[in-house]
Amino acid sequence: MEKGYERFETKVIHEGYNSDEYNDSLAPPLYQTSTFTFKNAQQGERRFAGEESGYIYSRLGNPTVSMLEERMASLENGESALAFGSGMAAVSAVLLSLTKANDHVLCSQGVYGCTFGLLNLMQDKYNITHDFSAMDSAEEIRRSIKPETVCIYVETPINPTMQLIDLELVSSIAKEKGIPVIVDNTFSSPYLQKPLDLGCDIIIHSATKYICGHGDVIAGVVAGKKEQMDHIRMTTQKDIGGVISPFDAWLLLRGLKTLPVRMDRHCENAGEIAAFLKEQPQVEKLFYPGNPDDPSYETMKKQMNKPGGLIAFTIKGTKETAQQFMNELKLIKIAVSLGDAETLIQHPATMTHAVVPAESREKMGITDTLLRLSIGLEAWEDIRDDLMQAFNKVK
Ligand SMILES: *Cc1c(COP(=O)(O)O)cnc(C)c1O
Repeated sequence: MEKGYERFETKVIHEGYNSDEYNDSLAPPLYQTSTFTFKNAQQGERRFAGEESGYIYSRLGNPTVSMLEERMASLENGESALAFGSGMAAVSAVLLSLTKANDHVLCSQGVYGCTFGLLNLMQDKYNITHDFSAMDSAEEIRRSIKPETVCIYVETPINPTMQLIDLELVSSIAKEKGIPVIVDNTFSSPYLQKPLDLGCDIIIHSATKYICGHGDVIAGVVAGKKEQMDHIRMTTQKDIGGVISPFDAWLLLRGLKTLPVRMDRHCENAGEIAAFLKEQPQVEKLFYPGNPDDPSYETMKKQMNKPGGLIAFTIKGTKETAQQFMNELKLIKIAVSLGDAETLIQHPATMTHAVVPAESREKMGITDTLLRLSIGLEAWEDIRDDLMQAFNKVK
């Protein structure tokens, strides 16, 4: 496999694939196979014993999946990566790998709705407890770490309110305590933020989002140190089995090639739309880390290359106003998920975060009038015009 490209824009296209080894095929081949044949019984024995490298069965490894894993490891500046059948398969493989009964997980104030569900399941079944922390000062983080805390789990930007957490601050304190920091890097993609470079230990992606970029795959990725990744591969990935299909891995290799180009456009469009929303009298509060008035602006400058393609805002009125506004949109589609070519809008309180109890939702800033936009790749003027006509209708 080809290795060692320096620049991100070249890595997304070439890393992990050398056409010389595959009949000079420009596009990486799709190994749509469940199993691999052995030349003889002894070879099968050697492969199972780990004495000979080579593929055995696609839950344990597949060449197309390996290419994706190698490319993702390189993009995150990690030693190794693992691909999963969904972002949640990645989240659960990591959290179950690092915890045992009676342990404690410290989380950022606000995590993806199903991650919240998984944490509760772990609490109910195994008494693995968790707490949420604002992580906004060294004292606060130190105070929140308990003797039984085994890992810190961070989302930044936080879904859906787009607040940022200073990853260098969190990782420096975690190092004092000798516990790993896991970062859900879905909202940024490695193009905008590389948590491993900031001292964090494990990266998780819902590859369904920006990594895929085309709204046609559900997948997840984990990256980090080789030893840790090997451990997850041989335990929670292999035995729980949430692996990715070779075809989905192939689609992700395809989507990744345009990641930098797409991200630049997502960010550029989001900047224009955020500026427009800021001027709207019906917008009560804007949540966008690229806004210089935003409390996360300085952290964004410090740890992200650009502010990303997501914007949240509260609309003046009630839940009904928010829903009517969504219904008036024509170009912008009502859908959860993000990072697609199409601009999407969703209502977190009744959609992605409906499983979170109202009280916790309130703490996370998820009110009934909060709307989240994933800015797509359309002409930004058309996105703006669609928002404008909907604002005019709910006046
Ligand atoms: C979508 C998402 C997930 C879950 O990923 P799936 O691919 O839907 O399983 C986890 N974290 C974040 C931040 C997400 O946006």
